Amino acid sequence: VDYENRCRVLEQKGLVVWFTGLSGSGKSTIAVEVEKMLNEAGMATYLLDGDNIRHGINQDLGFTKEDRDENIRRISEIAALFQDAGMITLVSFISPFKEMREFARSKVRDNAFIEVYVSTDLKTCMERDVKGLYHKNIKNFTGIDSSYEVPEHPEIILDTKNTTPQECAKVVLKAILDRIRG
Ligand code: ADP
Repeated sequence: VDYENRCRVLEQKGLVVWFTGLSGSGKSTIAVEVEKMLNEAGMATYLLDGDNIRHGINQDLGFTKEDRDENIRRISEIAALFQDAGMITLVSFISPFKEMREFARSKVRDNAFIEVYVSTDLKTCMERDVKGLYHKNIKNFTGIDSSYEVPEHPEIILDTKNTTPQECAKVVLKAILDRIRG
């Protein structure tokens, strides 16, 4: 059974929607919202995030440059498999390095990849400090003592400062529907 046959049964195409941004920028909040909207619209989805990846297949990895790259390499391979299975695959990781985001894109067939840059600035993320991580002095923390390479040509840039998660999710939903129907 090939990709086209899988898509025929699911009545959709596979897609990877890759959220990148600082910790606390809003990636997971928006991805969860988008997934709910897609589910309500009858689409088959899967969300890859820290909970199911960092605590599972990647629990052996830390946050050195080498481990971060390996983290994203494995996630890229997994996302490409889910896409090949016909899923709308949402991926929510800081993914700070351009080279690895490009790797993720290169793994997916038919350029079925939407990069979403959640562009919330560091000050706002630190004020939110959703998970209390910015105040823990964690080594190799993105934005503090590990760099974040801003995406150069993302398909979508989201401003979360003056918008709600629902408004941001709607922008992503529209791009997804345009892509898989187009
Ligand atoms: P990340 O997954 O990037 O680490 P989270 O989604 O866990 O970030 O946290 C983002 C926080 O910012 C949440 O507390 C969320 O309620 C808040 N927030 C405020 N406005 C927005 C918005 N427009 N989009 C997403 N999150 C927002």
